[in-house]
Amino acid sequence: MYQKELEIAIKAVTQAADLCVRVRADMVNPDALEKGDRSPVTIADFGAQAIICKFLTEAFPDDPIVGEEDTSDLQKPGNAATLVKISDYVQGFYPDATEDDICRWIDEGNDNVADRYWTVDPIDGTKGFLRNDQYAIALALVEHGDVKVGVLGCPALPLNLDEPQSPRGVIFSAVRGEGSYMGLLHSDTNQPIHVASENDPTKLRFLESVEAGHANHEMNHAIAQAVGIVQPSLRMDSQAKYGALARGDATLYLRLPSEKTPNYAENIWDHAAGAIIAEEAGGKVSDMYGKPLDFSMDRKMYNNRGVIVSNGSLHQAVLNAIAKVAA
Ligand code: AMP
Ligand code: MG
Repeated sequence: MYQKELEIAIKAVTQAADLCVRVRADMVNPDALEKGDRSPVTIADFGAQAIICKFLTEAFPDDPIVGEEDTSDLQKPGNAATLVKISDYVQGFYPDATEDDICRWIDEGNDNVADRYWTVDPIDGTKGFLRNDQYAIALALVEHGDVKVGVLGCPALPLNLDEPQSPRGVIFSAVRGEGSYMGLLHSDTNQPIHVASENDPTKLRFLESVEAGHANHEMNHAIAQAVGIVQPSLRMDSQAKYGALARGDATLYLRLPSEKTPNYAENIWDHAAGAIIAEEAGGKVSDMYGKPLDFSMDRKMYNNRGVIVSNGSLHQAVLNAIAKVAA
């Protein structure tokens, strides 16, 4: 099932990842960026969305795409130089593409959720991209609220987290009912991946965001301790956290709402691809109350609060601990 969808999604994410890698290589020294200058991430973000939408609309012209970006700002006169830069990078792959073509591709991603739709985050973890840390290119196909295909490109993730010298640039993929796989970007070989058992004490650790504004670190720590996790957290930007959990680097990913934004509703493109990759690797995904993530209603998951991803066996204990702490 979903063979063509998977094949196109992998091609699209791989090429978008290549564009992001080129933009980041040209950043030279991220420390030299003027404070607050987000231009490299803006260029890579739009460029990656253009490429992914081009692949999808050519292969599946009837499928709506819900993407994070649109060109309304980009088309303003003051941003002409940014559009030129985006075009330069996209033309590295499609020499004949015009600025109009590229804007059209980006705006193919302005649809709403439907019975069947794709959702794309061209660069998830923009802060990580700028810091030279982790980021991901995330693409998922959702049908009737159920994620059917998910692909995550993680250009900066080592193949083996515990061996920092191992090759970097990993792609995760999953089709519902068919397991999760990992391989190096551009390699034809994939290996099945599986979550870790908490019986392996070295893997009994938890993942969380680097950014304190995106999750409550203190609360995450308290919950992790309550379920017997004593190792310090693994902080990582982007949905690379889902991939890391799916391949057994950790047994838990906690995303309790930050104190500053207790009612924050998560975006579908920040979770759909990662969620199926974790689930098909044997993991469990829910919100902090144990409710399944709702990808059927809107771009935002208004029916959910926070996100909990576990190896499965740890899940109920985590929910119990949250209920206790919250009370
Ligand atoms: P992470 O890499 O885990 O820090 O998550 C990155 C994602 O967090 C971004 O794609 C944002 O859409 C999302 N985000 C932005 N603000 C918040 C917030 N207040 N709470 C949770 N997530 C957020
Ligand atoms: Mg994101």
